[in-house]
Parts: sequence; structure tokens; C-alpha cells
Amino acid sequence: MSWKDDIIKQIGKLNPRFLASVEKRMKAIPAVSRKIDAEYAGIMVELESSAKPYKNKFATFTRIPESGRSRAEILSEMQSMRAQEESQWKDGFVSGAVYHGDQEHIDFLNQVYAVNSQSNPLHADVWPSTTKFEAEIVAMTADMLGGAGQDVCGTISSGGTESIMLAMKTYRDWAREKKGITKPEMIVPITAHAAFDKASQYFNIKTIHIPVDENFRADVEAARNAVTPNTIVIVGSAPSFPHGAIDPIAELSELARQNQIGCHVDGCLGGFVLPWAEKLGYPVPPFDFRLPGVTSMSADTHKYGYAAKGTSVILYRGEELRHFQYYTATDWPGGLYFSPTFAGSRPGALSAACWAALTSIGAEGYLAATKKILETASAIKQGIREIPELRVLGDPLFVIAFDSDSLDIYKVLDFMSHKKWSLNGLHKPACVHICVTLRHTQPGVAERFISDLSEAVAHVKTHPDEKGTMAPVYGMAATLPLRGMVSDLLKRYLDVIFKA
Ligand SMILES: *Cc1c(COP(=O)(O)O)cnc(C)c1O
Repeated sequence: MSWKDDIIKQIGKLNPRFLASVEKRMKAIPAVSRKIDAEYAGIMVELESSAKPYKNKFATFTRIPESGRSRAEILSEMQSMRAQEESQWKDGFVSGAVYHGDQEHIDFLNQVYAVNSQSNPLHADVWPSTTKFEAEIVAMTADMLGGAGQDVCGTISSGGTESIMLAMKTYRDWAREKKGITKPEMIVPITAHAAFDKASQYFNIKTIHIPVDENFRADVEAARNAVTPNTIVIVGSAPSFPHGAIDPIAELSELARQNQIGCHVDGCLGGFVLPWAEKLGYPVPPFDFRLPGVTSMSADTHKYGYAAKGTSVILYRGEELRHFQYYTATDWPGGLYFSPTFAGSRPGALSAACWAALTSIGAEGYLAATKKILETASAIKQGIREIPELRVLGDPLFVIAFDSDSLDIYKVLDFMSHKKWSLNGLHKPACVHICVTLRHTQPGVAERFISDLSEAVAHVKTHPDEKGTMAPVYGMAATLPLRGMVSDLLKRYLDVIFKA
């Protein structure tokens, strides 16, 4: 271990609150902040050139052009950007991101969008078609997730993050009114999606993190010990984003039921996979509304529901709970106003496209798609297990995370990036994952993944001193105890993204 690593390790042992305050005070010293700024600036120049490849290829607009451009020119520019970007996801080099992607399906959704492009469900009287589509998307999703014959209802949102944030706000407001809880706490496995922490920050709900076991499933005993009179909800994932592990939902939801609190199952990723996997005979533990303690679920239509990006479903057990999600304004001069989710106006065309996806694919289509995905994922899992330097984390169905005892896994990730792959780098522990979609079920894709991965491992083994491009960044982000600096770096990266 180098002296730098050693210092980092020592600092890492200090109390995080103390560290954050030291960090803040250090940054208040002008000389230190100048030094940090200079350091960041260098990194950002690098990032900017890769984040802005069109800088010198197309005209840049920082004010509205005096006279409008020709539509043909705009379309042709966009076509050429698409040509640059399309093959990577279309040919199956990307983890997650595009879950269906067959041209005929895309063309159909685009047609549906075009038919409905002006619709806005905020004006339910003008577009009753959209409200029909949305009500039926919710009903079909509830039925798929064990809600048949039960009082399960919900709404459409813009995506998984919104569904999760809505649910957490709903529990906060429910607990305040029903139980008088003013200092709400939610029990969240460390592997649950960042959207829960986002909800915690936005809505002032304290997060009580619980650890996961060696198979990356939430620790039920830790959850039991974490319950206090202020607990409003226990969260579980089916499966989790990082390692594709399904939390012990039966136990977590039972714990919630005994304590008369909520249990939210994050099925954003798996909501449209697990029901079909179960029908196909895969070992799927109970995870949905068939468990009496499950009080809400999020399921993303824009992932394995194969809809266009921009829709998700949030479901509740009982309309009473759903009421705590709604917003109503009774005294606004703008009139009686009410909206089910965070947005006001919403893109009705996306709901239409979502409804069209569900009803055109049908149960048989979802079964067939899930079968192909799980078979491909099995082949990939097997291929990774046959590479001695790598280890698959847990026993996942379709999100496959792997790490290594002998190699820097981020260098493997780097090598894969040079081979055109876009995989996810994860940390705590350091690993990489691939979220298998229909794109990977095309002939030859799984084989190419395994052969590129074998080559990557061989390369990293024989070039231990090669630094790599992203590997040091991931390494630093994973180990740097000054989390404020990592956070600053991410904020500056977002600044770059929004730089015209
Ligand atoms: C993708 C995902 C989310 C968040 O969904 P977005 O649509 O990206 O906002 C939440 N939970 C899990 C498990 C996910 O995979």
C-alpha cells in the first residue's frame, strides 16, 4: 500500500460528520479553494471534450436564431447525430438504457406518439383518450403484480425516480396525518436505488440504512432493529439496481405489517420481468401485492415494459393511501387545481405510447421477451463464471455484477469501454455490472461480450502498470474519504453537461 492509500485509509476511519466539517473549513481557506479549483479545472477540460463531441461539427446556439432555420436542415443534423450514436445501443453494447429497441417496435411507438402528440392529461376533459390509457396502464400493471381481486390502485409518473419519490412523500404525509409522526424515518437497504436518498433529501425524511448479506439481500434482522416509533416505511428492491438481488420481501413486508407501517417494493427494474420469469418457472421469491404487507410498488414501463422513455407506474394498496400523493389547490385564483403527481402538464403521448406497448406486446410477447433475456443472461453468467479471475456477485437473474480478487475491475471496465461497451461501474464493493436487455439477445452479442471480457481480463493481467482512463477516477471516488470533494466533482460535471 502506498503512503497515499495509507493516509486515505486513516482518514477514512474518522467520523464522517467531523470530516465533512473539516472539509468545509479547509475549503473556506482561499489558498486551499484556489488549489482545489485549479485541480478541478484540469479534470473538467478532459471531461468536456468527451461530453461535447459536436462542439465543432454543428452550429452552436446560445440565443434563439433571428430567423428560423429550415426544418430539413434541423432534421438532417439530428439524423447525422443519431447515426453517430445509434449503433452502440442498437448492436447491444450498452448495459440497460434501451430495453427493446427493435426497429418495428420503435416505428410503431413513434406513430402512436405522432397521433397523440398534443395531448395533456392535465386537461382530462379535452383528452379523455389519455385518461383512458393511463387508467388502463395502472390496472394492467396492478393485475400483473398480484393486485387482481385486491384494492390496488395507482398513477402514472415520468419514471422510476418520480414513482419512488411520490411514494416516500405519500408515506410521510400519511404518517403525519394518521400517526402524528413529525420526524419521519425510512428503513432503506444500502443497495436500494439513489432515488430513495433523493426523496430523503427533498422531503426531509431521515434514512436509516440497513446492510445486505453476502448475497446482497437486505438484512431482515437489521431492519427489525431499525424500526422506531418514527418509522414510516420499509423499502425492498425486486431486484436491486447494483447487483440484481431480490430482497427478502416476504420478511420485510411482514415486519412492516406487524408494525403497521408501509412497505414499498421497488420493482422499477424487475416489475415487468419477475412476473413473467415466475410463469416461466424461474425461482422467483414472492415480491408483489400477493404479500399482504406490501403497501406500494414502483414498476417502470419505460424499462422492461418496453414503452418509450418517460413513464412509470406507482401502485398503492388502497385509495386512502393514494390520496396522500395527490395535490389539490382549492383557493388559487387560477381556479380549482389538482394533479396526481409532481408535474402539472404532462406528455399524454407518452402514456398513449405506453398503453400501445403493453397492449401490442401482450402477455405472450412479454413471456417470450423475458425468456430470451433470461436465457441470454444465463449464458453471460456462465461465461463470466468460467473466467477464473472474475466472480459473479450473488445469484442474479438478469442484472449481473462481477468483481475480481486479483485484478483492478475498473481497468477491466476501461478495456471494455475501448471495445465499445458501455457497462456500469459500481462501488462498495468495486464491481461492474451488465443489465441484460432484448438488445443482448441478438445473435452473437452474448458471445462477443464474453470474448471481449476474457480479452480484457488477459490484458489487465499482462499490463498491471497501465493506468487506464476512468479506472483512477472510479478508484478515487470509491476510496476518497472526503465525500464533499467527490460530490463537488459530480456537480461540476453536471455544469459541463449544461454548457452550450
Ligand atoms: C432505474 C431504476 C430506478 C430509477 O428509475 P429512473 O426511471 O431512472 O428514474 C429505481 N430503482 C431501480 C431498481 C432501478 O433500476
